[in-house]
Amino acid sequence: MAITSLSTWGHDVRNMPIRQKLMLIVMATTAVALVLAGVGIVFADFMLFRGYLKNDLSALANIIAENTTASLSFEDPAAAAETLATLHSRPHVVTGCVFKNGGALFAEYTRPGASAVCPPPQSARVIRFDRGILLVSRPILLNTHRLGTLVLVYDLGEVYERVQLYGATVIAVFLFATLIAFLLSSRLRSLIATPIIDLARVATRVSNSRDYRIRAQKFSNDESGLLVEAFNEMLAGIQSRDNGLQEALLAREVALKDAQKARESLETSLASVARLNRQLRTSNENLARSNEDLERFAFIASHDLQEPLRMITIYSQLLVRRYAGMLDTEAANYVETIEGGTKRMRLLLADLLTYAEIGARSEEPAQAIDLNVIVETARENLAVSIAETGAIVNVAPLPVIRGFESHFTALFQNLISNSIKYRSDRQPEINIDAIRVNEDLQICVADNGIGIAPEYHSKIFAAFKRLHGQKIPGTGIGLAICQRVIERYGGRIWVESDLGHGSKFIFTLPGSLLVATGF
Ligand code: ADP
Repeated sequence: MAITSLSTWGHDVRNMPIRQKLMLIVMATTAVALVLAGVGIVFADFMLFRGYLKNDLSALANIIAENTTASLSFEDPAAAAETLATLHSRPHVVTGCVFKNGGALFAEYTRPGASAVCPPPQSARVIRFDRGILLVSRPILLNTHRLGTLVLVYDLGEVYERVQLYGATVIAVFLFATLIAFLLSSRLRSLIATPIIDLARVATRVSNSRDYRIRAQKFSNDESGLLVEAFNEMLAGIQSRDNGLQEALLAREVALKDAQKARESLETSLASVARLNRQLRTSNENLARSNEDLERFAFIASHDLQEPLRMITIYSQLLVRRYAGMLDTEAANYVETIEGGTKRMRLLLADLLTYAEIGARSEEPAQAIDLNVIVETARENLAVSIAETGAIVNVAPLPVIRGFESHFTALFQNLISNSIKYRSDRQPEINIDAIRVNEDLQICVADNGIGIAPEYHSKIFAAFKRLHGQKIPGTGIGLAICQRVIERYGGRIWVESDLGHGSKFIFTLPGSLLVATGF
């Protein structure tokens, strides 16, 4: 029960406001100190006073014993009673008796109003406290001869009066000191309590408002001041972190909005790209269809036109042969013009057919073809013009690739024949070589001919584009055929040249076309 109420009290004290707690501590400390000091002082005084009383009474007994020696020697009880009567100056001496040897009462003093009886004499010197009295018994001697015994009884009322006085003083001091302590502590407690209470108030405000700009006030440079500083530093840290967080949140929101906008515009762009893609696909399909139609037309036209052309050729030749000598000069010129026209048209149709065939899908699979052999075939096909012009054709080792023989024969034949056709005054020299550039195969057909001005480099690959008149024969389809071949195999063709400095026709082919990996 006591333990329970003690722990409840402890709990109550713990939960007290700090002002009350401080007050309680000061008051309790003061009270305990005063009580202990008071009790200590009273006890010490009590003990000291008892000692003093013993000495005092012992001295008094000595004097009276001295003074009664003669009375005893001369058997004069009245003188002894007179001596004892001097005791009335000590009001706390209750009784004083002189006994003769043998224990008979010789003389006696009793304090007026008291009814005390003398205690029996003791054989030895005795001075002791006994139930509220101090008893002194001492022998009365003449020299060393014992004449009798003196017994004094002292009541301890003086001691108790003294203790009561001290007790009352201590209580008065205690009450006064407690009052002073109370007044002082109520003044001084604010020194400790105010900063802590202010700190608690600020902490509550911060926690309720989440406003980390608030700061606690520093009242002093002691521990509470350090506490306030640490608390303010902590708030500053939280505030800067909070600011960072707010900024990050803001930045995140802005980024999210931007991302949203970007997403919307991306979606719009994607939708328009998709629309454009659809349009592109449709136009591609249309283009592919018209390309196919055109190619089919070119193929059929060039193929079917060959027959009537052959007829014109044969009949014009017949005309020349049968009516030779019968035609006048003008008619002969007409026939010659017809022959020239048909020859050009034959060439044109042959080139067109080749061009159309390259674009056509093949039923046959691609073959492994040795480009050295292909170049050799082209050379053989051009043997006459090579011989006529004395052209030199140098061929470095070329690789074996996967493709169609007719395509690459047309390619090399066109490039070599152009190099011969567009020769300069020098003996034509043609160099063909192949190298690897990264993954690709790169082949170059270089000549020392008239060269091509840079502004025409991209134009000459268009069909029917020619830079020279009829004095150099040609259809204007040769390079278009070359480009078509290369593009069909996933490569690229271009020219590096300048007027009067020869030309380099360079084309690439994907390395995947190589049959032998060693090249
Ligand atoms: P063409 O039948 O006229 O030779 P091409 O398509 O083969 O038609 O060539 C187009 C034009 O490019 C030619 O008319 C010519 O002017 C120029 N050309 C082609 N190859 C060479 C070359 N090796 N040197 C100089 N000019 C060339």
